[in-house]
Amino acid sequence: DSKDFDSEQQSVCPFCGVGCQVSVKIKDGKVKSVEGINGPANEGRLCVKGRFGFDYIHHPHRLTKPLIRREDAPEKGLNVDPSNPWTHFREATWEEALDKAAHGLQDLRSYYGGQSVAGFGSAKCTNEEAYLFQKFIRQGFGHNNVDHCTRLCHASSVSALMENVGSGAVTATFNEIENADVAIVIGSNPTENHPVAATYFKQFTKRGGELIIMDPRGTAMKRHAKHMLQFRPGTDVSLLNAIMNVIVEEKLYDRQYIEGFTEGFFEFRDHIRAFTPERMSELCGIAPEVIREVARTFAGAQRAMIFWGMGVSQHIHGTDNARCLISLALLCGHVGRPGTGLHPLRGQNNVQGASDAGLIPQFMPDYQSVTDPEVRSLFRHIWKGTDLLDQPGLTVVEIMDRVYRGEIKGMYILGENPAMSDPDVEHARRALAQLDHLVVQDIFLTETANFADVILPASALPEKSGTVTNTNRQVQVARKVVDAPGEAREDWEILVALARRIGLDWDYDDPREVFDEMKMSMRSLHHITWKRLERDSAVTYPTFGPDDPGQSVVFADGFPRRAGRAKFTPARVTPPAEVPDESFPMILTTGRQLEHWHTGSMTRRATVLDAVEPEANCSLHPSTLRKLGVEPGGLVRLTTRRGAVEVMARADRAVAPDMVFLPFAYVEAAANILTNPALDPFGKIPEFKYSAVRVENP
Ligand code: SF4
Repeated sequence: DSKDFDSEQQSVCPFCGVGCQVSVKIKDGKVKSVEGINGPANEGRLCVKGRFGFDYIHHPHRLTKPLIRREDAPEKGLNVDPSNPWTHFREATWEEALDKAAHGLQDLRSYYGGQSVAGFGSAKCTNEEAYLFQKFIRQGFGHNNVDHCTRLCHASSVSALMENVGSGAVTATFNEIENADVAIVIGSNPTENHPVAATYFKQFTKRGGELIIMDPRGTAMKRHAKHMLQFRPGTDVSLLNAIMNVIVEEKLYDRQYIEGFTEGFFEFRDHIRAFTPERMSELCGIAPEVIREVARTFAGAQRAMIFWGMGVSQHIHGTDNARCLISLALLCGHVGRPGTGLHPLRGQNNVQGASDAGLIPQFMPDYQSVTDPEVRSLFRHIWKGTDLLDQPGLTVVEIMDRVYRGEIKGMYILGENPAMSDPDVEHARRALAQLDHLVVQDIFLTETANFADVILPASALPEKSGTVTNTNRQVQVARKVVDAPGEAREDWEILVALARRIGLDWDYDDPREVFDEMKMSMRSLHHITWKRLERDSAVTYPTFGPDDPGQSVVFADGFPRRAGRAKFTPARVTPPAEVPDESFPMILTTGRQLEHWHTGSMTRRATVLDAVEPEANCSLHPSTLRKLGVEPGGLVRLTTRRGAVEVMARADRAVAPDMVFLPFAYVEAAANILTNPALDPFGKIPEFKYSAVRVENP
């Protein structure tokens, strides 16, 4: 009923990487309801988060004024009540808070050098804000120690894609599954994590497409699948190499495609011969005949796609896992045609865009290497004489280690929550407590903000304008829907004000000006203008003209690598960094739930989502619970070499009897107290998906 609201505005869902477009209805300056509209990634559909998760922006915990740590505050720790922070913080004017934030960072730069300050940006911000954040650190402090949550998400996938196909983005949109005959979904639970993408997968099976799911944990999608391969955790390379062994030995590969578009096949073929289904079956737990049948199905398809999630990427062998998936697609020529492609499903709504914008330590915007003199020369020109360091910077976990060791003394953290999201999070919390100067910019007094010296109140996505880029490479406009509460400001405005105070010559008055500057160095944005985005609602990059809607599938004519060829990179079997033993006999894996998103700072403050899923929980097989003598709904204690949590246990047959699944959204049973900080050597992503754990009846 039109009388139920005062106005209506189109925008983009702030949660996952699907990037659903929404219509937001506003009454008395507040969001009243949200509906899906006809965006390219959702065609009117929304999941429970997009439909009901919006009212976190009106939560009484919202930061509405800048805060400064009191001189007589108790020792820094996870000890601040967000509804009553006054023993730790006092209110300040924007002038005072910005001055204090800037002076603290400047003092460290003057005394210890620029390397004493590092920055974490966020995929919750717009492309323009991500661009400004990396520029702030690079231009203001003269190094590349700037990163964001892609490091905890798909860094290993991007590392493998850059190495082997020459581009870190998806080769085909997920909607291309409509044109496929076969699809593999591995290490991904799209029904919970990318629910609207999952609806396309289900439609694919309804019209006869063959879905192959590979996952150590059963998923709701399995009832739509032709094959469900519930392999042993951490044995991805064994399973995938065995599948490719069959394709090679039975000569099911696409010889013409391999000759025309790839390099390294013969070495790869020789390598893969050792990984027979019989040998690998002992490791991965999948029967050789099933491995053979899946190999024949995938290789025999006219058009096939591969989708993957963090079950693939969050391992110390995450890059090897992704290398295998790339090789599998290349072997069968399933890249570059409609209904074919490689698609790592991106987690946050703008993790693709923030990475494209250069919010990563080894690349400038558009994945241009910091080691390339021509790239540095281009940015020296655009950034008016700034000299850039030619060494890749430190990544998220590496930065926190340097903080812990006292080598990094100041941080600027925008929208990230490492006090919840880092592996071995007690180590991260101790590190944050040691910082001489921590500036946190966020919408809530997050666990990380507990450790801040200055807190700058920022805007949620519906309170600002900017562009965001979803998992499909679709650039969309997120429009301002309501005003931010109190004195909270848009993040780009805060960045500009802070940059001027540390001596940078920034004069942006609008995010459109930042977008125009980004276009000067980013070929991916060619032919994309703000005006066009307003008109078309979304443009897929690359686009080859002002009226070309963009390329859903790329690499039809070759790859952005030497001689246009993609590469086969052999992968060896590597065990997880720690394996079960007598003291820690089970396997812990972590992830998300449908209702809660990442560290829970937003969704646990959304009324409906919190009502549906209000309590920290873990999932165990019913037989494991019986052995422990714990009823479903009772407490269990989970202990690893890093720490312990007590949490309510649910019975779940999808979890193998030797595993426990723990979501990471709950501060009262923080999963990352338990996780292992061991890193993949290429993507530098931690092994969130595998830790040795002891489960007890407390
Ligand atoms: Fe939002 Fe993702 Fe749900 Fe779409 S699928 S409504 S983008 S959380």
